[in-house]
Amino acid sequence: MEKDEYFEKRKWMVEKLKRELELSDKVVNAMLKVPRHIFVFDELKDEAYNDYPLSIGFGQTISAPHMVAIMCELLSLEEGNKVLEVGAGSGYHAAVVAEIVGERGKVIGIERIPELAKFARENIKKLGYENVEIIVGDGSRGYEKEAPYDRIYVTASAPDIPPPLIEQLKKGGKMVIPIGDFIQYLYVIEKDKKGRITKKNWGSVRFVPLVGEYGFDHKG
Ligand code: SAM
Repeated sequence: MEKDEYFEKRKWMVEKLKRELELSDKVVNAMLKVPRHIFVFDELKDEAYNDYPLSIGFGQTISAPHMVAIMCELLSLEEGNKVLEVGAGSGYHAAVVAEIVGERGKVIGIERIPELAKFARENIKKLGYENVEIIVGDGSRGYEKEAPYDRIYVTASAPDIPPPLIEQLKKGGKMVIPIGDFIQYLYVIEKDKKGRITKKNWGSVRFVPLVGEYGFDHKG
């Protein structure tokens, strides 16, 4: 494990998450490895290992570490999985997932704000991940070109499950998505081998809105 100048802070953050949540070794190891301070503005680096969202500009945020950990656990990520992330933001969550799915896996992050997609791409490049691709576009439509996906997760809250995401999820696959406007819940969607869908409510959450064809009609 690489010990950069923020390693002790990162370890402290992960120890705290371990006390508060039931975390698997793969999620713990990925979060210990990915340097969250690389994904935030210079003036926020000292806050990078506190458990809250931070601004990444354009009215958007890098999600709180506990939410990244919870979503990774709910997805039951496995080595070799092909994963679609809707809402790549800073690229941090994609990097954590990339650590878990490994070199045989792939993460495709889709981000609607071109400047953020560039920011995410640069951050990912700095750390040398070759199994992450960041694309600009409306992720509420999914990304047909690389479909189907073993796992899909959405980091912005949708009015309902976007039908293209259901279509692009592999049989036997899993999706995690926040749904709702002022009141939001995180859902775990499973598609069984026969293509039947089940939907479980994990609990209340707070995300920025998903904007786009199957998102809310927000401007920002
Ligand atoms: N996962 C990110 C990270 O690790 O930094 C945090 C994501 S932030 C909470 C949500 C992101 O979703 C924002 O960057 C926002 O621009 C993006 N977003 C909203 N609607 C979108 C859409 N239809 N397609 C792609 N990205 C979208």
